[in-house]
Amino acid sequence: MDPRKLYYYLRDRSRSTQRYVESVKKRIPHWNTRAIDHPPIFRYGLAILLCFLALAIKQIINPIFGTTLAFTFFYATILISTWYGGFGPGMCATILSGFLGYFVFFHPISNLPLHSQLFTVLFFMIEGSIIARLGSSMHKAFQQYEEKDRYVRYYANIAQNIFDAVISTDMDNIIQSWNKGAEALYGWDSDEVIGVSLGIIIPTTYVAQQKKEIDEHLEKHGYWKGEVIHKRKNGSRIHILTSISHITGDDGRPLGIVLVNRDISDRKKLEQGKDDFIALASHELKTPLTSTKLYVDILKQRFEQAHDKKDLSYIQKIDTQIKKLLELVKYLLDVSKVQAGKLQFTMEETSLDRFVMEVVRDIQQITPSHTFYIEDRTDKVVEIDKDRVRQVLVNLLNNAVKYSAGKDRIEISLQKNGSQAVVGVKDFGIGIPKEKQDKIFDRFYQVSDSKGYTYAGMGLGLYIAREIIEKHKGKLWVESEEGKGSTFYISFPSVRK
Ligand code: ADP
Repeated sequence: MDPRKLYYYLRDRSRSTQRYVESVKKRIPHWNTRAIDHPPIFRYGLAILLCFLALAIKQIINPIFGTTLAFTFFYATILISTWYGGFGPGMCATILSGFLGYFVFFHPISNLPLHSQLFTVLFFMIEGSIIARLGSSMHKAFQQYEEKDRYVRYYANIAQNIFDAVISTDMDNIIQSWNKGAEALYGWDSDEVIGVSLGIIIPTTYVAQQKKEIDEHLEKHGYWKGEVIHKRKNGSRIHILTSISHITGDDGRPLGIVLVNRDISDRKKLEQGKDDFIALASHELKTPLTSTKLYVDILKQRFEQAHDKKDLSYIQKIDTQIKKLLELVKYLLDVSKVQAGKLQFTMEETSLDRFVMEVVRDIQQITPSHTFYIEDRTDKVVEIDKDRVRQVLVNLLNNAVKYSAGKDRIEISLQKNGSQAVVGVKDFGIGIPKEKQDKIFDRFYQVSDSKGYTYAGMGLGLYIAREIIEKHKGKLWVESEEGKGSTFYISFPSVRK
């Protein structure tokens, strides 16, 4: 019977052996797995068996070849025992072979003095130990290499079979790997693109600004995530959601980049359809609403003149609702303009402090529930579209009021930061959870509290506000702690002091 089969039979049957194997594996994680998979009785048993086998073979062939092949079979025995059993069984085979060889062959026929005989045997055993040591080390190295190789192949297989396109490049953007997903997405086979520049998938009209943004983010954070446009082998364009990160070596230095790309063209088409609908609907709503507002104003005047208080109160309610609707339509039209890149700006130089104070004063007049405090001064002149920046400030101030019911203090800070002028709007309200602070600038995004409650609104104000501020080459960001309040900051590059 094949001894390995016997062993596996025994191993599968014996639960205690299994436990033993597991415990050894835990203790010596890098130990050569084949050796420790064998129970000791088998490992040492094999060594002893092989020694006697070598002895028997020698008995048979010695009369034919003489004693020249004296220890060859024993050396082989030591090597096999070490390879399959580890260092211990190798040593066991060394000692046993030494004694067997000595008593059965060497001593009976040798005419050397006893001490020379013993010295020869001792020398054999030293040689055997060296073979056992080297053999077990080599086997261990071989096993570790196999293990690593298996891991490498395993991960390479994962990357190959991921449905998304996984592409890696070196630091010069030369493609190093290209998985099946990439083949399906772009149309090039891996052997067509490996060794070629990544530029092959990037359209020549690629926005240099975006490339700069990606490179800078990669440099700073080691990754970049976002939407880009790539091209296929047949020249068609695809919208891609990409996640790019550095591949780093053991010393942490970047060796290249890996891109995981997903085709989002279908989603983009849907979004475009939605945007077109919003643009059309809001445009169509605006005209009838504006004329309704006009007639409501006329009616309001008439009721006022006739001192008809009851009807006046009704028409005032209608007026309030129409104002809300007009505001909503204005937001939607702005969103469409942002999407189409058609937001218009009329820039003029303005003293920022005075401008902010005016806006705050106007809002204070219609907000009895809260008190606004203005702190410090920037003393900066900025170049802004006053209407658009007013729209942003009003949005931030209204949000500060809306999301801080019961906390009546709102602080507006005016600070300079080098050549930048920074306006802060701080409230002491509900705050925004950390993980949602980036998302609130997305279209239609609203934060719900832990009970799922969402405040009335559209989730559009901050989206438009960020776009407006970025068009002023400024920044809009938030710092907030849930339950303690939020501070929204706007920074503008100043024109002069
Ligand atoms: P809206 O207020 O109309 O929902 P915005 O775009 O102005 O839309 O705000 C988006 C979301 O950001 C809000 O729904 C709210 O959850 C959160 N938010 C904005 N400002 C504040 C604030 N000062 N405090 C807490 N949450 C805020």
